[in-house]
Amino acid sequence: MHSIPLPGPGEEPLDRREPTIHRGEPPDAPLAIRTLLKDLGLRPRKAFGQNFLVNDDILRKIADAGEIDRNDLVLEIGPGLGHLTRHLAARAGRVIAVEIDRGLVRALRKMFQLVPTVEIVEQDVLEIDPVALTGDRPYKVIANLPYYITSPALRHFLEARRRPVLMVVMVQREVAYRILAPPGNLNLLAISVQVYGRPRLVARVPSGAFYPRPKVDSIVLRIDVFDEPAIAVPTDKFFRVVSAGFAMPRKQLHNALAQRLWMPPGQAPEILRAAGIEPSRRAQTLSIPEWERLVRTLEQRGLV
Ligand code: SAM
Repeated sequence: MHSIPLPGPGEEPLDRREPTIHRGEPPDAPLAIRTLLKDLGLRPRKAFGQNFLVNDDILRKIADAGEIDRNDLVLEIGPGLGHLTRHLAARAGRVIAVEIDRGLVRALRKMFQLVPTVEIVEQDVLEIDPVALTGDRPYKVIANLPYYITSPALRHFLEARRRPVLMVVMVQREVAYRILAPPGNLNLLAISVQVYGRPRLVARVPSGAFYPRPKVDSIVLRIDVFDEPAIAVPTDKFFRVVSAGFAMPRKQLHNALAQRLWMPPGQAPEILRAAGIEPSRRAQTLSIPEWERLVRTLEQRGLV
C-alpha cells in the first residue's frame, strides 16, 4: 500500500515557496486572443468555462510539470485555442485533445492539420472512456480545466478503468487548497484525490493570466497517480462510508454514520471504538488509514 507524503496538521500546504508567475506575458496578449477569436467568428463561452491562458511562461510551466517526452501520449482536456496544445505537441509523441465546443474544434483542426501527432476529438470529456481513446498505452492528462467540471473531471480519470500515470491541471485556487488539505483537516474532495494519487502545487497563477479574466486566482497542480489506490478495501464501499461521514460535517461522527448508514441506535459509537476511532470526532479529522479501518470494521459486521 502507498503512504501519502503530505504535510502534517498545521503545516503549510506543500510549497509556499513556489513563486507566482508574472513574467513572459506580452502586454497585448489578451488583445491577441480577442483578435484570434474575432477572426474565427467566436466569443468566449462562459457556459464552457472558457478562460484562455495568455501567459507563455505558465503554458511552458504546465508542460514542464508533465515531464513529457516523445514516448508520451498526452490527453488534453479542453484545448480551446490550442495555446497549451502547441507546447504539448512540441514535446509529446502524441496528443489527443478533447474539446466540447464545435466552433473551437473546427478552428483547432485547421490549426493542427499539418501536425500528424495531434488529434482533435469533439466530445464532452466526461463522456469519453479513456481506454477507447488511448488503448492500453500509458497516458498523461494535462489541462487548463474548465472550472465547472473540476471535480467530475478529476474523478472521471482517477476512477477510470485505466488511470493516467500523471495529471497536471489548472484549477481554482480554493479548490487546489482543498485538494492539498493535510491529514487532520481533510474533506471529501481531498480524499477522492489522495486515495488515487499524490497532489502537489506547481505554480500559483494570477487571474490576469487569462482572457477573459476570471474572478479568482488559480493554481497548477500535479497529481502523481498511484499504481493502485492507497486503500485495501473496495473503493465503492470506502466512498459510501466517507460520503456518509461528510454528509453532516458539523455532527460527531457516530451521529452522522448512524443516520446515513442506517445503523441501529447505539451501535455506531461501539463500531467506531472497535476501529480505534473516538466516536465524538468529526469527519474532517480522520486520516485515510482511519477511514479504511472503519470501513473494514463495518465490512466485518456486514454493514457495508
Ligand atoms: N486550453 C485552453 C487554454 O489553456 O487557453 C482553454 C482552457 S479553457 C479554461 C477550458 C476549455 O475546455 C475550453 O476550450 C472549453 O470549451 C473546454 N471544455 C469545457 N467543457 C468541456 C467538456 N465537458 N469537455 C471537453 N472540453 C470542454
